[in-house]
Amino acid sequence: MSTEQNNEQMPDWSQYRGVLVFVEQRSGTAKKVSWQLLGAGKKLADKLEVPLMAFVIGDQVDHLADEAIYYGADRVFLCQGPELQDYRTRPYSRITLKLIEEHKPEICLFGATGTGRDLAGAIATHLPTGLTADTTELDVEPHPSRLLLASRPAFSEKMMATILCKQYRPQMATARAGVFQALPRDPERKGEIVLIANPTEGEQIATEVVNFIEQTGTVNLEEAEIIVSGGRGLGGIEPFRLLKELADELGGQVGASRACVDAGWIAHEHQVGQTGYTVRPKLYFAIGISGAVQHTVGMAGSDVIIAINKDENAPIFQFAHYGIVGDLFQIVPAITAEVKKR
Ligand code: FAD
Repeated sequence: MSTEQNNEQMPDWSQYRGVLVFVEQRSGTAKKVSWQLLGAGKKLADKLEVPLMAFVIGDQVDHLADEAIYYGADRVFLCQGPELQDYRTRPYSRITLKLIEEHKPEICLFGATGTGRDLAGAIATHLPTGLTADTTELDVEPHPSRLLLASRPAFSEKMMATILCKQYRPQMATARAGVFQALPRDPERKGEIVLIANPTEGEQIATEVVNFIEQTGTVNLEEAEIIVSGGRGLGGIEPFRLLKELADELGGQVGASRACVDAGWIAHEHQVGQTGYTVRPKLYFAIGISGAVQHTVGMAGSDVIIAINKDENAPIFQFAHYGIVGDLFQIVPAITAEVKKR
């Protein structure tokens, strides 16, 4: 689709400028996807030559406004109050709507988390505007069309669809965690923090969060810093015990290829790849995993990849920073024993 074609059909959106990112937090801790979205948003903002903005809602979350600046935001809108401690659709969406109405960003980005999906959906419905869910690629056409090119897998992951929002502003998207890279944190970076009021303050809100129970012991691959993943080379359920032992020693989590999930050896919440989670840990072990493209798209962004495979020609070695050719049943216990000594 050419820019000319786009221009023909587009209303005048010149009052909408800037990229706005939702900084999602719980109990004062930001979700990693927020910083990753600032990384993605920065590229869009630079291309459009506009500021990168962020907004933080919560109770006692000033430090997150600073963090957003360290991760690339030029201006951060901060809305705080004890009534905003837990996410609730009505107050959070009213604050966000007011922010959008007053500051008119042309692009709004949210993490494709439970909260991000709920908030973005509520806003898109209310405005109304288009919302592309679960994007894995974000780009923008330069001026004058300034169209957000939001791409995501479609038709059972067999093709990528690029979705445009030509008739409404802002253009909105949610993005999967782990897909985009955060900028390096720069505590010297300066930006503007703008305090905003809660338009629902004092209002009776129909819902109340009585208790939030943090699930413990469950898998959260997107936030994990170390992942020890196993593939069909393990041969069954039982050898996953070896991976769990190593993961526990390192303070990491166990991942898996789809082959293992399909075989029923491990639950889908452990699956890394195109139809599983996209992860970006500091350290990723690929053990008995061949390196099919559907797996590597989900882990190639890891800082350090260690592959263990008995086939020296396995494609996974093309992605690995360190490769060990050999039998996983000898190598994994040896690594665990070594880690235990330290
Ligand atoms: P294999 O390809 O069978 O590799 C096993 C490896 O183990 C081999 O390289 C072998 O040399 C090695 N090995 C065997 N024994 C040992 C030993 N004792 N010691 C050391 N190494 C050993 N896959 C995903 O992982 N995630 C996805 O999200 C995903 N989504 C998909 C979506 C679609 C639409 C499709 C079509 C496929 C998808 N797949 C996905 C499947 C993907 O194509 C591969 O089939 C899968 O990743 C292979 O898993 P694997 O590497 O564990 O198994």
